[in-house]
Amino acid sequence: MSVLVKGGLIVTQNPRREVLEGDVLIDGDKISKVGDVKGKADEVIDAQGCIVMPGLVNCHTHVAMALMRGLADDVKLEQFLERTFAIDAKRSPEDIGTGAMLGCVEMVRSGTTCFLDLYYSQDMIAKSVEAVGIRGYLGWSVLDEKFTTQKGVPLKNCEKFIRAHRDRPLVTPVVAPQGIYVCSDETLAAAKDLARRERTFCHYHLSETRHEVYEHQGRSGERPAEHLAKVNFLSKGDVAAHAVWLTMNEVKVLAKAGVAVAHCPTSNMKLAGGGVAPVPEMHEHGVVVGLGTDGCSSNNSLDMFLEMKFASLLQKSSRWDATVLPAQKVLDMATIDGARCLRADKQLGSIEPGKKADIVVVDCRRASMRPLTPSNAVANLVYASPSGAVRDVLVDGSIVLRNWKCTKVDEASLLGKADAAVQELLSKID
Ligand SMILES: [Zn+2]
Repeated sequence: MSVLVKGGLIVTQNPRREVLEGDVLIDGDKISKVGDVKGKADEVIDAQGCIVMPGLVNCHTHVAMALMRGLADDVKLEQFLERTFAIDAKRSPEDIGTGAMLGCVEMVRSGTTCFLDLYYSQDMIAKSVEAVGIRGYLGWSVLDEKFTTQKGVPLKNCEKFIRAHRDRPLVTPVVAPQGIYVCSDETLAAAKDLARRERTFCHYHLSETRHEVYEHQGRSGERPAEHLAKVNFLSKGDVAAHAVWLTMNEVKVLAKAGVAVAHCPTSNMKLAGGGVAPVPEMHEHGVVVGLGTDGCSSNNSLDMFLEMKFASLLQKSSRWDATVLPAQKVLDMATIDGARCLRADKQLGSIEPGKKADIVVVDCRRASMRPLTPSNAVANLVYASPSGAVRDVLVDGSIVLRNWKCTKVDEASLLGKADAAVQELLSKID
């Protein structure tokens, strides 16, 4: 099937970061032409008055936690963890699937076309990903057996999931050693070995809170990233989430190892872990940094437009410097750099011929997005919070949102199912 997105303002995110007025032609799952397109297509999307942009890439979330939105707010971190673990322990595979479906719909509606997830029961999440039509890099969590609520051995579960989900267009399996606080050196080594054997990468939490870093330092005498380097765990192409509490040496350690970082500013601010991730220094040392929302229990939203805005404002405010993390760089983090984190920048992250057709149409025929010119389009996307203006979304060349309507799932029945699932879950813990 071919689709022609006609007459929009295209924020290409190509190497020259061009913003062009024109059309995008999609043939099958790929973009075949960008600019002035003559001729017809099976389907035409009129993008007059709209911004056409690459789909956003959410580099760290726990999508199935969408069901846990609003269940542990405004409490100290210890109570937050206690509450979320208590709920988590009672989850059924079915409500994980329902939560994932809710989160996937929320992401598509706010312009995200690809995400990196860390959770268990990824087989259920994969079904939701494919039902909604979004692209998921799904990391099955691996941790020491004594800490897990998973049935069976986490590493074996992960391996089984990977083997059953190879070579799918929308799902890429990933190994997700949860974090140094629940993974022994042996577990980390086994996770790394599995990722290498299965030709995928590792995604993990790293130095999210001061408590976690000092606890590890007290126990081992080493800071987490330095310890991971010493035990030879850090690998090129892996993605560490948060990376807030890093020394400059640890930034250099990550840069040298080729580990990418998923920066999650909203979650970090809301949980008040203190500190601010040293994103400008990561950039300076060549660390690839993407953006992540984290899960709905710590962010309450999977909106990557808001994440871009908060990422920029947090750095500016904490450094007393309005020039830090400008709009273009933040948009890079949410698109092409996110794709680099996933080692998928040859396929994703920009609107260029030959790339996968993961495309978002933002309807700018509204006061909040005007004035609109080629020179302020990027700033409008980052600072004017247009997630509600996301009108059409294509993933892998397929239209998954058209005129604000999900094309592949019955959203009304999903919302009812999600409410029922959360009621049942809460009845098990209260
Ligand atoms: Zn997380």
